[in-house]
Amino acid sequence: MSDQTRCPSVLSSKLNPYEVALQQFRAAADILELGEEYRKQLEIPMRVMTVAIPVRVDDGRIEVFVGHRVQHNDARGPFKGGIRYHPQVTLDEVKALAMWMTWKTAVVDIPFGGAKGGVQCDPKKMSDNEIERLTRRYAYMVSKILGPYTDVPAPDVYTEAKHMTWFYDTYSQVVGHSEPAVITGKPVIVWGSPGRNEATGRGTVITAVEAAKKLGIDVRGATVAIQGYGNAGSHAARIIAEEHGAKIIAVSDSKGGIYNSDGLNPFKVLEHKKRTGSVVGFDGSRSISNDELLELDVDILIPAALEEVITRENADRIRAKIIVEAANGPTTPEADEKLYEKGIVVVPDILANAGGVTVSYFEWVQGVTRMRWTLDEVRSRLKEKMIDAFEDVYGISKEKKINMRKAAMVLAVQRVVDAIKARGIWP
Ligand code: NAD
Repeated sequence: MSDQTRCPSVLSSKLNPYEVALQQFRAAADILELGEEYRKQLEIPMRVMTVAIPVRVDDGRIEVFVGHRVQHNDARGPFKGGIRYHPQVTLDEVKALAMWMTWKTAVVDIPFGGAKGGVQCDPKKMSDNEIERLTRRYAYMVSKILGPYTDVPAPDVYTEAKHMTWFYDTYSQVVGHSEPAVITGKPVIVWGSPGRNEATGRGTVITAVEAAKKLGIDVRGATVAIQGYGNAGSHAARIIAEEHGAKIIAVSDSKGGIYNSDGLNPFKVLEHKKRTGSVVGFDGSRSISNDELLELDVDILIPAALEEVITRENADRIRAKIIVEAANGPTTPEADEKLYEKGIVVVPDILANAGGVTVSYFEWVQGVTRMRWTLDEVRSRLKEKMIDAFEDVYGISKEKKINMRKAAMVLAVQRVVDAIKARGIWP
């Protein structure tokens, strides 16, 4: 799965995702008392491209897939956002995801706007050759509106480094020279960035540590529970335990959870998961359910799997002091209110999981300058960016007496509107 943008995932939500994104935007716009001219500019994407993608499938037939590229806003810099392959991709979903990218890049203050791509297809039912042909033809068809200074895609659901490499190569063939900065999430050998794989988990931990400081909680020895042990969850577990001395007392995956009050070794848990396919059954742990994990009495809870897991049904039973959303959309709006009333600090997804897109930005910088950064350089710059963003959001939340999610949205919308105002209207 990708760095970027599985943004407030609403695949399972009953609401239209674009309507959800609009509601969130309007709430922030109300707080900022935004004028109609800015509301309208930000409610409608700047550009929408829908393409028919003919692909010769392995049995010789031609199948035509539908793809989109939505460019929501580029007031702060080139459009940026992942490419999703999924059977349920819809234009409204892509429009919502593009808007969320505008806010995410603004929260961490990187010089990008927001975009998203999606192809309606079922990659699980396609051969690698078919997926390559699909990717290359889609890349060609949207190449007219992409470019290192125009629109820079990245991986998302069911796309990863190899798709990015096909995309990079196809775009380079079209423009007639090698252009690594047109896409991020590439392997290091073709101008990917060191530190890219761990970036989301590392960013999550940086914000967790900052939140703990605000509450006077010492992270050394603090108890942590993590739902989901994939890319985001397992890196977060390793980094918070190894570099900050926290005690991971529970982790889970889709098959269930494990618990040990004395602490679990995150490396050994990962080895066990790689060997057996699940964290369940790890030596010296007892089994717990995913629901129990969420309700444990811990200092820090990191949802790193699914959307909508903390809801109005279980919010009253949540005992964590801090919730750091590595996953997109794990907390429902009703639960948010309850948690805020209970004094639980929730570090929202558009801040807590923005480490991925931040290191994507570093990859882009390395691509356009043709310079390689070291892992240490990437890590220290990521830390600086995440801490600055955390402080900005926390400050607004205290000043306006709103939760950190609303504060993050207010910060993001304000930054985008300020850029629109500063640039003015042409002609
Ligand atoms: P992943 O596929 O690598 O891992 C997902 C984990 O969740 C797996 O361990 C899986 O077993 C577990 N899971 C699935 N269903 C579950 C269930 N019902 N109960 C408990 N666990 C379950 O995915 P990832 O990249 O780590 O992404 C996880 C979340 O983080 C997603 O919401 C994603 O949108 C978000 N995110 C990830 C990145 C990134 O760079 N990886 C960036 C931004 C946001």
